[in-house]
Amino acid sequence: QLRLSQPTALPQYSALRRLLSTLAVLDQRDGKLNIASLAAVTAGTKLGGSVTAFVAGSGVKSVADEVAKVKGVEKIIYVDNDAYDKGLPENYAPLVVENIKKGGYTHIVTGHSAFGKNLMPRVAALLDTQQISDITGIESEDSKSTTFIRPIYAGNAILTVQSSDSTKVITVRGTAFPAPETEGGSASIAEGVDPKVECPTEWVSEDLAKSDRPDLGSADKVVSGGRGLKSKEEFDRLMPPLADALGAAIGASRAAVDSGFADNSLQVGQTGKNVAPQLYLCAGISGAIQHLAGMKDSKVIAAINKDPEAPIFQVADVGLVGDLFEKVPELTEKLKTQ
Ligand code: FAD
Repeated sequence: QLRLSQPTALPQYSALRRLLSTLAVLDQRDGKLNIASLAAVTAGTKLGGSVTAFVAGSGVKSVADEVAKVKGVEKIIYVDNDAYDKGLPENYAPLVVENIKKGGYTHIVTGHSAFGKNLMPRVAALLDTQQISDITGIESEDSKSTTFIRPIYAGNAILTVQSSDSTKVITVRGTAFPAPETEGGSASIAEGVDPKVECPTEWVSEDLAKSDRPDLGSADKVVSGGRGLKSKEEFDRLMPPLADALGAAIGASRAAVDSGFADNSLQVGQTGKNVAPQLYLCAGISGAIQHLAGMKDSKVIAAINKDPEAPIFQVADVGLVGDLFEKVPELTEKLKTQ
């Protein structure tokens, strides 16, 4: 166990539960809530105590109205200011900290997404506390500390982390904390404080990969291609029809991304996205540990590989040994006629 800091005197357990309060920092873009960020609410509910959600940007009152219906949220605080539209951490971190100070929360939680990874270290630094990153479980909450579980070394070891910091700053792995129901809640809505800190960073532009397919991070089914596909042309010829036949999102190994077969945003693994769909079907992927780190929690893993010794078969529930250039089109045709 790793003890992160000096224990702070805290009230006894039952009183602590009453005092325990989570601020779940949610992510929105252009007035659209990122549903995956609701994992922070799920984690807050697991901690016990009250859960307050936080959202900022221009015209976010409608997002606040949407979040008010999410089960488990007691209160939603919003700050309507276009300075927070892009989630630039230079001004977003002081904004969050001002609202933490006002609300006196014990746990600050957000998703382990690009937004969370960018924001939370600054929040932790401003609060002079240790960040606990990418947790997959909450083991216990006692009168002095909270114990968390987080994977390290690409998921090959599990670390138990106990923190006694009075304010705990946490990012959560979305696949370990499924989003709560988005209907049925009735949270109160309030405006937060806005310190209006000037941002030294200017937003210039962004280049987003657009797709009509399900979002890779939250899709029920994912089909993934690796270096075995040989080229971008073959990747584009074989993977989209298979994905369409299944209604799946498309993913890729890092080797496929580095070779230019697929966009960076499609990378699954230790340095890519973590996915845990109902079905993960991969073709031409060997099953390196860094790839497994991002997909081994999938419910059913199916693999097509011409090498019967490929490590992917050690984690696969269903394996097909064969040439993907034959098997993928065959499977696609069969799925289409079902
Ligand atoms: P390969 O390992 O080359 O495997 C290709 C497979 O295709 C082989 O098993 C082969 O048998 C099969 N094949 C070839 N032709 C056919 C055919 N015609 N029909 C059927 N099968 C065929 N990797 C990730 O994926 N995600 C990450 O996030 C990631 N992060 C990393 C971080 C670090 C720090 C490091 C060091 C590495 C990382 N990697 C990551 C890279 C990882 O180690 C592997 O190199 C990579 O996953 C291999 O990709 P691949 O399986 O597509 O390619």
